[in-house]
Amino acid sequence: MQQFPVPRNEAARLRLLHELELLDTEADPIFDRITLLVKELMSADAALISLIDDQRQWFKAKVGFNEAETPRKVSFCTHVVASGKTMVVEDATEDERFCNNPYVVSEDGIRAYAGAPITLYGEFHLGTLCVICNQPRQFTAAELRYLETFADWIAVTIAERFEIDNHRAEREVLAQGPVCAVVWRIEPNVHLSYVAENASRVLGYEPDYLLRDDVNYESIVHPDERQELLDRMQRLIDGEQDALEMDYRVLAKHQGKSVTRWVHHYARADKDHLGNVLRVRGYLLDDSKGKELELKLQEANDNFDIALTAGGFFTWSWLIQSNHLEVSHRWQEFLGYTVGDKKEFNWSDLVHPEDLAFLQAKLNDHIKGPASRFDARFRLRHKDGHYAWVHSVGRLIERDAQGRAVKMTGIHHDISEQVANEEFLHQQAAILELVSHVQHEFMLAKDFSEVCDYALPRLMKMTHTSVGFVGELPAESRKCNLLLVHGLQLGIDGDDTYSKLIRQGLEVEVAGDVVKKVLLRGEPEFCHEPISELELSFKPVTLPPLKNGLILPLYFKREVVGLMVLANTTHTFERRLLSLLRPMLDTLGTLMHMRRMDQERVAAVNELRRLATTDELTGVVNRRVFWEAIEQRYDEFMRYQTPVTVAIIDLDHFKRVNDTYGHAAGDEVLREFCRRSKQQLREIDLLGRLGGEEFAILLPYTEAADALLALERIRKAIAAQPFQFDDEVIEVTISVGLTELRAEDQKIDDWMARADEALYHAKEKGRNQSVTA
Ligand code: GH3
Ligand code: MG
Ligand code: MG
Repeated sequence: MQQFPVPRNEAARLRLLHELELLDTEADPIFDRITLLVKELMSADAALISLIDDQRQWFKAKVGFNEAETPRKVSFCTHVVASGKTMVVEDATEDERFCNNPYVVSEDGIRAYAGAPITLYGEFHLGTLCVICNQPRQFTAAELRYLETFADWIAVTIAERFEIDNHRAEREVLAQGPVCAVVWRIEPNVHLSYVAENASRVLGYEPDYLLRDDVNYESIVHPDERQELLDRMQRLIDGEQDALEMDYRVLAKHQGKSVTRWVHHYARADKDHLGNVLRVRGYLLDDSKGKELELKLQEANDNFDIALTAGGFFTWSWLIQSNHLEVSHRWQEFLGYTVGDKKEFNWSDLVHPEDLAFLQAKLNDHIKGPASRFDARFRLRHKDGHYAWVHSVGRLIERDAQGRAVKMTGIHHDISEQVANEEFLHQQAAILELVSHVQHEFMLAKDFSEVCDYALPRLMKMTHTSVGFVGELPAESRKCNLLLVHGLQLGIDGDDTYSKLIRQGLEVEVAGDVVKKVLLRGEPEFCHEPISELELSFKPVTLPPLKNGLILPLYFKREVVGLMVLANTTHTFERRLLSLLRPMLDTLGTLMHMRRMDQERVAAVNELRRLATTDELTGVVNRRVFWEAIEQRYDEFMRYQTPVTVAIIDLDHFKRVNDTYGHAAGDEVLREFCRRSKQQLREIDLLGRLGGEEFAILLPYTEAADALLALERIRKAIAAQPFQFDDEVIEVTISVGLTELRAEDQKIDDWMARADEALYHAKEKGRNQSVTA
């Protein structure tokens, strides 16, 4: 607990007291004289100038009192300092504040006291001018006025001495120092009117030289900065600005050599009460050393920056509380910004939306969590909208008193190329896997359309396209104006909307030059512009407009066998897509060729089979095939007794047809006979040529009576309408013998012989009739 009262501004008061450097100094004759005068004027036993320090009072002057200082707690004066007012004690033994004071209770102790505060700058009560008496007494108002007046006078003296000391010290420092004061007058012309002595040291010019009427100050300024200085001085003189601050070089001579030194120029305008500029005061600081260091540091920083940039490194620092990102100029250039853009950077605007959560987690790991540094790869948006990959490492370098993160700095490394290469390798692996899958599928299913349905959506995803098409150039399309569609995908969902159409044989008409050129020259085409709808018309399918497209020829050996189109990319087609897709293109070309070979082989086999089983002239089955069918029905009958009838047909007087109209007419009659007969038969019935103009019909599940109806329909269809060959009209009739297979028939020949017999009867009975046996 304090044992004495203290003023409110105690700390500042003590600071000022110490700054004045009065405590513990030699006695001052002026103050001694004042003290003596006051003692006599007030008929006191002692008079003192007391200064109240932290724990003591110290006497700058004393008359009638022997001690140099006393503890503050027994000081009367400390009460005056605390209140800032003059204090009078008429009898200390009667005052409870002082009745136990050792200086009061001692023999001849203090009885009466009067003290006035010594106050500086209106608020700092440093101490008192006081008087002490050994007897109780009163003080007149006049006495107290003397005391206060002298106390004030002491205060003023102390303050003025302090100012003067300070001023002198400042001037000494300035005269020795690197700052040269100058003054420009405005009227009648702008010219230096005062130049401090140290001009020669600061600027390298004598004051007399600079003050000469024929010397302009700007003549000593480096030409590169001269005009700017003149412009800015003019603004000061015109009253547009109150002060200017600028760094420039001054040209000087040192030991006969031209040298330049950097000057920091501060100037302000003196104005009258109307605001007119009277003069300009300037302070010129020789800042060569500082500037040199600054330039060296700048150069070092630039070199460091250049080295970093060359390696694709960029520095950043992040003020976490304001979320402000400080970035180097090179960094800004890296993202397409110029210094003039004055953009506020922060992570959330720049980082790719897909990478933001990941980045935040990584930052937290370092700021709050276990990670000793921040280390992440993410994408930053370039000014033009594309994204660049960076590898960023950083560290927290500042926390506030509460331990909150304040600042992080780090380095970005441009890894766009590296990531692109990685992506390329990744895509290459994906393509190779796709190729192997496609080959495997084709080997298993032998279905090229299925292969396209599988590969196209994946290739489209890889190339960010939404239209994909694979077409084959048929061997007969020599003019390259037709393509056979094997795969067509719109959108990347792998839909099979068109697979049915494709399997039925969807063709594309090629009418434009671009696609034709690809087919003819066998070179890929990168279309970055919209492709005319004339190029490819997929009737009846309508494609969406093609805004861009990659048209790629498919080869087998050296021959273009088809093409693949990938269109409507949301990105741009890069040249290296070609090498990426190459294995796929080769595979599709080869498989397309294999499919064609396969198709041709199957057609050849079918043709052989057809030749072996059909009669060449009429196209109905030959005797061998007919006989096999007969055998089959014979076995079936033997097991299940299902009815079956056979009919043998012979054309009447056919020799005459040949003889009259020629052999070719005869051939045509045979063909027309088959056509008319088939029209009257069921799917299940089989017409075969046994030889010459002799045919047979096998009617399964048919009894003789029903068969007769069918054969009669045929006979009438032949007889009713004469045959036509060239301009000739040929009357044709047939004779038919038919018979049902019977249980007693031992062998097929028994059955067939009966049919032959019936035919013989039909002929005998006059032809153009059917006979059942
Ligand atoms: P019928 O009424 O008794 O059967 O008298 P036909 O003249 O029809 O009988 P024939 O057996 O005497 O004559 C059959 C003729 O059919 C002889 C042959 O030249 C002719 N012929 C056989 N095969 C073919 C053929 O493939 N094309 C042509 N144009 N004629 C054929
Ligand atoms: Mg005949
Ligand atoms: Mg015959």
